[in-house]
Amino acid sequence: MQFHLNGFQAGDPELHPAGQTQLPIQPDAVDVLIVGSGPAGLVLAAQLACFPNILTRVVERRGGRLQLGQADGIACRTVEMFNAFGLAEKLLREAYWVNETAFWRPQADARQGIHRTGRVQDTEEGLSEFPHVIVNQARIQDYLLDSMLKSPQRLAPDYNLELTDVARDSHPTHPVLATLTHADGGQAVQVRARYLVGCDGARSKVRAAIGQQLRGDAANHAWGVMDVLAVTDFPDIRLKVAIQSASAGNMIIIPREGGHLVRMYVDLGEVTEHNRTAIKATRPEQLIAAAQRILHPYALDVKSIAWCSVYEVGQRLTDRFDDAVDGAGAAREPRVFIAGDACHTHSAKAGQGMNVSMQDAFNLGWKLAAVLQGRSPSSLLASYSQERQPVAQTLIGFDKEWSAMMGARPKDPLNPAAGGVDPAELQAYFVKAGRYTAGVATHYPPGPLTGQGTWQGLARGLVIGTRLHSAPVIRLADGRPMHLGHAATADGRWRLYAFADASGQALNALCHYLEHDPASPVRRFTAPGADLDSVLDVRAVYQQPHRELKVEQLPGLLLPRKGCFGLIDYEKAFAVDPASSIYQQRGIDAQQGVMVLVRPDQYIAHVLPLDGYRELEAFLQPVFIAQ
Ligand code: FAD
Repeated sequence: MQFHLNGFQAGDPELHPAGQTQLPIQPDAVDVLIVGSGPAGLVLAAQLACFPNILTRVVERRGGRLQLGQADGIACRTVEMFNAFGLAEKLLREAYWVNETAFWRPQADARQGIHRTGRVQDTEEGLSEFPHVIVNQARIQDYLLDSMLKSPQRLAPDYNLELTDVARDSHPTHPVLATLTHADGGQAVQVRARYLVGCDGARSKVRAAIGQQLRGDAANHAWGVMDVLAVTDFPDIRLKVAIQSASAGNMIIIPREGGHLVRMYVDLGEVTEHNRTAIKATRPEQLIAAAQRILHPYALDVKSIAWCSVYEVGQRLTDRFDDAVDGAGAAREPRVFIAGDACHTHSAKAGQGMNVSMQDAFNLGWKLAAVLQGRSPSSLLASYSQERQPVAQTLIGFDKEWSAMMGARPKDPLNPAAGGVDPAELQAYFVKAGRYTAGVATHYPPGPLTGQGTWQGLARGLVIGTRLHSAPVIRLADGRPMHLGHAATADGRWRLYAFADASGQALNALCHYLEHDPASPVRRFTAPGADLDSVLDVRAVYQQPHRELKVEQLPGLLLPRKGCFGLIDYEKAFAVDPASSIYQQRGIDAQQGVMVLVRPDQYIAHVLPLDGYRELEAFLQPVFIAQ
């Protein structure tokens, strides 16, 4: 991490110097009003809090921080995102790591008990440099809240404030009018906002206000969820386990952080109008009894229940995630957005809900910041719904298939005609679906922010529209081994990774063009007086071992002078790690080199030849405003 740029800073380097804008208690006009402080609302808030000149406010109807419960699975992709916020180390230290998953089924000749039918690596080798982990949603939210408090905005949610109405009018700058009501009664307050984002969960009021509905399966599926401290002789209690008993039902065991706590998801089946009241009234003792039946012949002695809930959810989705179409069906600029459970709900089985919700917010956050800072035109905001709605649609399709598979009865080998799923089939499906559950299956199609694959062959493993799959490199100036992707923080900047050609000449020419040519995106889109890398952060990777390269021979663009003292940034140039060449790992053409353009949310926007100057200009022209 970099600090001391504008003077020596004593104390915690994560505590950013406070910006000039301190959040007033009740501003009557804000740039962004975020409704809800769940995972989606807090990722968005943490992203916007980095920008001292964007006035953001978060309202939450709860009285304070979430203490317990709800989701707990953190996909590899989410850990990658957390790393960009500087939160991954804390998360990885505290979390349970899902290294392996075990499958248990009835024996062919003893249908009343269960036995282990398989044990697989949870995440395919090489899918991400980070593991799949488990930590309480409340802690995830704590990390984000802490990051917001240390940000230049020192942002904290306003608790006990419920959004009761949203309207949009013709106000020239702040057309969104939100009505907020204090939990303790009192007068409703009205806040004007340039943009409002409803991160207000599955029963979203913002969704209703923009005329959207969750559509999809009529039926909900119910799970009894309990976080317990228990004594058991079930041997895989510290593994993630999918259990299908012959007649007592299905259960998923998820070990939790801290070494002792375990979450048990007991399948309570489909909810209908007839059984809803009974299912909702399921008591903790009933859940424990069901878990004991499923685990038979193993014993389960629950000593303490930390959290218990009946979680009822259907697979549903809204048609769009913004208000870009008015009540009369006419197109307009979007000003109100929804994210997370407000626009899509998933089953708990594939652990998607919290992860996808946070990725929605990460997609929207940098776009809002770019528009509010005058770096990008407001047309950029239409891409949020255009990109994220289809992702949610695909995930819901996957979630349905996954839920059907995981919820199916085990096939009885002595009675195959009775149907059910074969254990080997289920295990194979689990492995195949790993890209989805790891969160790395998202692939944005060509569009305004993702180029065509004309030059994809120059970097076969860095696929346009997917997230940058990081790989090891050595930082040139200090010889530090690190991951290339970890050089990028969640600061709203675009990145251009330039991989050197065999002679290095095309890379040098690119650096010269970017730094000096008035048509280059660096020159055109960087505001006068701003640091050279403040919009497009260029990083270069060389093919030679780092000791064969000389810092003093780097192009000026890779040693930019920054901040009030004009200090040199030495962290722009990298060399291959000979033990694990990024060129080989990511299929980069070592003869020609390549430039890989990456968006602030870590997704690859384009792959271009090193001399593709005109193509780079044409691609970025509509994304940025010339300064
Ligand atoms: P949420 O986490 O729902 O956050 C919405 C926030 O908005 C809440 O803090 C809410 O208080 C606030 N809010 C709502 N309306 C207003 C308003 N009008 N004004 C102000 N604030 C408002 N997922 C799993 O994978 N496994 C589970 O076991 C599981 N259990 C769950 C149990 C419960 C009780 C709930 C509600 C959800 C559960 N989920 C579970 C789902 C998972 O928590 C969500 O997918 C995830 O939290 C979605 O994040 P979000 O930020 O979109 O919404």
